[in-house]
Amino acid sequence: MATADPRERVRRALRTSLVHAWRRPAAALSSDTLVKLFHWSLAAISVSLCACTVAPSPTAPSATITADTLAANDGFEPAFFRAFVQNAYEAPGRLEPIRVLRGPLRLYLRTEDDAGRAIDRITLETTERTLIDSARIWSGEKFGVVQVERGTRTREKVPGWITVKWPSTSLGDRCGRSTVGVEGGVIELNASGACSCGMATAIYPRLVRHELGHAMGYYHTDHIADVMYGEPIPITACDTLPSERERRHARFAHAELQ
Ligand SMILES: [Zn+2]
Repeated sequence: MATADPRERVRRALRTSLVHAWRRPAAALSSDTLVKLFHWSLAAISVSLCACTVAPSPTAPSATITADTLAANDGFEPAFFRAFVQNAYEAPGRLEPIRVLRGPLRLYLRTEDDAGRAIDRITLETTERTLIDSARIWSGEKFGVVQVERGTRTREKVPGWITVKWPSTSLGDRCGRSTVGVEGGVIELNASGACSCGMATAIYPRLVRHELGHAMGYYHTDHIADVMYGEPIPITACDTLPSERERRHARFAHAELQ
């Protein structure tokens, strides 16, 4: 039975899922969600719902810095940092170790979904371009993508690689799902057409940036201006870039990288 509290849904999913998930827009949502969407629609015409969850990773911490050691830096916001890289927004009582991925990154982009159906050219090109642009931002401008391969295989569990997959069924009503800060991790995107946000591509750019953010070690934040925001967004925000505070704190998170 569905709960009327979105945060409770998140907590339930957190207990059962090893990955993050972002749900797709309104059509498949429960009635309690539609009430929430209605309020958003008053101001924004249409919305996408994000009800992502994240969970502990088996990967060892990748950095030794903490909010305390960074506190003296100009522009550093400890509460935001703990949400962004330690999951304090969704699990304030159990901070995660910092697991931002070290670079450089290699991307493996699958060209067909799990049922063997080809992914269209525009979606593949948009996804690849968005991943490359966003990786540099999420790395705090420390590194970027040095290699992209396309094909019908996978690089899952291969250190240094992130594999982008297109599940044909397993995402349900979600738009995306990702590991969090895992070497050889995976991003899953819903190419069914339900997550286009009115664009020519099957998945909207902000979703790609959001899932890559998870894959590179970030968690949900509390403000709609952030790409890592984990709640409904207006359709006008489907192509936004990481906020200034996200960019700033990505640099802090990678402060010890050379
Ligand atoms: Zn998410």
